[in-house]
Amino acid sequence: MQYETKILTTKYPKPDPYGALSMPVYHTAAFEFESAKAMSDAFCGRSMAPSYARISNPTVTFFEERVRQLTGAASVTALNMGMTAISYALMAVSAAGLNIVASKHLFGNSVSLLRDTLGTLGVETRFADFTNVDEVKSLIDSKTCALFFEIITNPQLFVADIRALSNIAHAASVPLIADTTIVPFSIFHAADFGVDIEVVSSTKYISGGGTGLGGLLIDYGKFDYSQSPSPALLARVKRVGKKQAFTARVKTELITNLGGLMTPHVAYMQTLGLDTLDIRYKRQAETTLSLARQCLQLPEIKRVNYTGLEGNPFYKLSCEQFGTLPGAVFTIDLPDKESAFAFINNLQVIRRATNLFDRKSLAIHPASTIFGLFTPEQRTNMSVPNTTVRISVGLENVEDLFDDIKQSIK
Ligand SMILES: *Cc1c(COP(=O)(O)O)cnc(C)c1O
Repeated sequence: MQYETKILTTKYPKPDPYGALSMPVYHTAAFEFESAKAMSDAFCGRSMAPSYARISNPTVTFFEERVRQLTGAASVTALNMGMTAISYALMAVSAAGLNIVASKHLFGNSVSLLRDTLGTLGVETRFADFTNVDEVKSLIDSKTCALFFEIITNPQLFVADIRALSNIAHAASVPLIADTTIVPFSIFHAADFGVDIEVVSSTKYISGGGTGLGGLLIDYGKFDYSQSPSPALLARVKRVGKKQAFTARVKTELITNLGGLMTPHVAYMQTLGLDTLDIRYKRQAETTLSLARQCLQLPEIKRVNYTGLEGNPFYKLSCEQFGTLPGAVFTIDLPDKESAFAFINNLQVIRRATNLFDRKSLAIHPASTIFGLFTPEQRTNMSVPNTTVRISVGLENVEDLFDDIKQSIK
C-alpha cells in the first residue's frame, strides 16, 4: 500500500465498544485490572496492558504504532516535545566520560542541551562541520557514543551527505542520530540512508497547524549496541538483546524516571495531523519552491536560500536525498539588520511568529530571536547572520504570499 492509503487504514488494536471511527482519547491516569496476576504481568513487562499513563496510554500507543507502520521502524516513542525526544536520544546512548560528535549547525536549544545540560553531567560534545565528513571522522574515538546532526540545518540550510556519515559512524561502531524535522518521513526515508535513530519535532509538520507540541523517537532497530562504550546500554544488551537496548533504556528508564510521554489529547490531534501530512507537505513545499524562484527576481533581495533551487550549492545532494521538494522553509538575505526588521514589520499576510510548517506562513529574524542569546562571535561561527529572514511557508495562495513579500520589500 502507498503512504496515503496506509495512513488511513491503520486500525486501533482493540475494538472500541461503540465502533468509533477515530481513535478514542483515553483521558485517564490509571487503568484497572481483572486480577492481581494481570496487574503484576503489566508492571513487570510480561504483558503490554497499560497500567499508568506516565508509562503508556492507548491513544499514544496508537499514534506510535501508526508512525511505526509508516516508517517501517522497529519501535517508536511519542514524547511531549521535540526537545524531549532529542534529550532522551542523547541521554540513552551517553554516560559521563563519553563524547558525542555533533554538528555545529544545530537548533539553538540542541546546542545548549549538549553544551550546558549534558556538559555539566560529564558528557563532552565535539562540534564539527557535518558537511565535511573528514572533519567529523577525525573527532571520533573509542569514547564516542553518537553522531548527531540535522539533515538540513536551520536556518543555514546546509545539507550533509547522510550515507557518507553513516559509513564513518558504522565503521567506528557508533550510532547515527538524525534530527529529521525539516523533511517529514512521508518523503525522506531515513533508514535507507543508514540513520539508526531519527528524532522529529512533531510540533511542526505532523501536528499540521501548530496545535500542540510533540516529539518522536524512531528506532530502526538495526544498530548493534554490543560494542557500546555505555555501561547502561551494555547491561541492557544482556537483558533484552543487542538491537533492542536503546529503546529499552528510553521506555523503561528515561520515561519512567523523568516523565515526558506525549499526552493523549496531543496524540489524538497529531494522529489527525498524520492523515493529511503528505498532501499538506507537497502543497507547502511546492509553494516554497515557487516563492523562492520568484524572489530571485527581486533586486532588493541579496540572496535566496532554498536547496531545491538549481543554483544552490547543495542542489544535487538535496535532490538525491529529499527529491525536488526539500522542505517548506526558505530564507532571504536583505542588505542589513534594519532592512530585515523593516521587511518583517511590513508583512500583512505572513505572520510574525516562530515555529515551522504551521498551516499559516510565518516569518522570523533568527539572529535576534532563536539565536539572540548567543554572542556575535558564536553566531558567526554558526553562520547565522543579521541579514537573514526565515520564511516558513503555509497553505495560503502562492500569489498572495508573493504579493505580500513584494509589498513588504517596497
Ligand atoms: C522545533 C525544533 C526542535 C524542537 O522541538 P520542540 O517540539 O519545539 O521541542 C528541534 N529541532 C528542530 C530542527 C526544530 O525545528
